[in-house]
Amino acid sequence: MVTHRAHVTIDHAKCISCLGLLCVGVCPVGILEEGENKKPRVVDEKACTQCGVCADLCPAKAITVNKKIKTDLR
Ligand code: SF4
Ligand code: SF4
Repeated sequence: MVTHRAHVTIDHAKCISCLGLLCVGVCPVGILEEGENKKPRVVDEKACTQCGVCADLCPAKAITVNKKIKTDLR
């Protein structure tokens, strides 16, 4: 049973702090902001719409989004 799954996860080990933090600029609900070491952080995960834009645009593939349409059927 899945009890909780993060909406969006940022892997700081992969993040290259691109372009003045691209993901921070593209999030339509503004829940990403610059955190420590010029790496983005999620400030309000519950507000994430799981749109996937940040993950799609991240050049380092450092962001994982559990998109709404994703199911556990495999
Ligand atoms: S999935 Fe969409 S709403 Fe969620 S953090 Fe990324 S850009 Fe923002
Ligand atoms: S888009 Fe990717 S590489 Fe760029 S700041 Fe965000 S997480 Fe880091």
